[in-house]
Amino acid sequence: MSVAKEFEAANANYVASFTKGDLQLPPQRKVAVVACMDARLDPARALGLEEGDAHVIRNAGGRVSDALRSIIISQQLLGTREIVIVHHTNCGMLTFTDDVLRNKVRDELHQNVDHIAFLPFNDLEKSVQEDVKLLKESPLVLDVPVTGYVYEVETGKIVKIDSQ
Ligand SMILES: [Zn+2]
Repeated sequence: MSVAKEFEAANANYVASFTKGDLQLPPQRKVAVVACMDARLDPARALGLEEGDAHVIRNAGGRVSDALRSIIISQQLLGTREIVIVHHTNCGMLTFTDDVLRNKVRDELHQNVDHIAFLPFNDLEKSVQEDVKLLKESPLVLDVPVTGYVYEVETGKIVKIDSQ
């Protein structure tokens, strides 16, 4: 069975007890979360989010420069007024460089992706601090509270990272 088929079966169970069809479009807790796509991080459970509470924007690393389009939509059209960044221990982004991935794509797909910044990092705290700073300094982002965390995949705990 494909995973998609398994999802259809799981969704049938979800629908059977679904009671949240009347939620409003704007996130009720007025917050946008930018988090890594890592399979071990479940923002809803780790942060106590329910349907309708928050925008959760996910990408490789939880990098904010890759989330700007969504953040602008979130703030300008859907009223969020706080941003939370979540990177995590043992992130895949700690394991490669732009050159490594660019060479792999060149070898395997015969494509030049030298123009793509894959945004890997080698210092977890620093990556969070950089992303907080980028949001604070961006003229495209409202002056709202921005908090950065490292999620520990080993313990489930979020650790707040102080700004630089
Ligand atoms: Zn990650």
